[in-house]
Amino acid sequence: MKSHPLAVEKEQILGIPVGYRPGLGRDCPPAKRSHLYKLGEDIMDFGDPMCRYGWNRDGRESYSIWRGNIGRLGICKICMRRALAGLDGVLPEGYVETPCSKCGQLTLLAKEGEGICDSCFCAERPNAEEIAQLLQEANPV
Ligand SMILES: [Zn+2]
Ligand SMILES: [Zn+2]
Repeated sequence: MKSHPLAVEKEQILGIPVGYRPGLGRDCPPAKRSHLYKLGEDIMDFGDPMCRYGWNRDGRESYSIWRGNIGRLGICKICMRRALAGLDGVLPEGYVETPCSKCGQLTLLAKEGEGICDSCFCAERPNAEEIAQLLQEANPV
């Protein structure tokens, strides 16, 4: 992981372990407490939050956060405890590791029975010829 001393100095002073960073929900009214997010390769590569409250959009399936911001009430205790234990982030409510619902082969993270792998997804999309055909049908000359 690339280090970025200035960006993480304050977070380390607060005791947040390396590999995790805080994010403050862009909510209305504004969130007061930050949740922690497990990082990928880079300090801006925010992954899954360390508790379910870190998902704050689309029925708690995605998030919109100010990265690196710490709320007035500090860091969520659940997130902090899990980060200190070195755990992975959590999936949104209802998400599981499930086989692709089309080919049944690749395992992916999705709602039970709703997952579709990349190759099945692409196979379902019309190709260039079909798109041209559809456009012609929609706009007959
Ligand atoms: Zn949390
Ligand atoms: Zn598939």
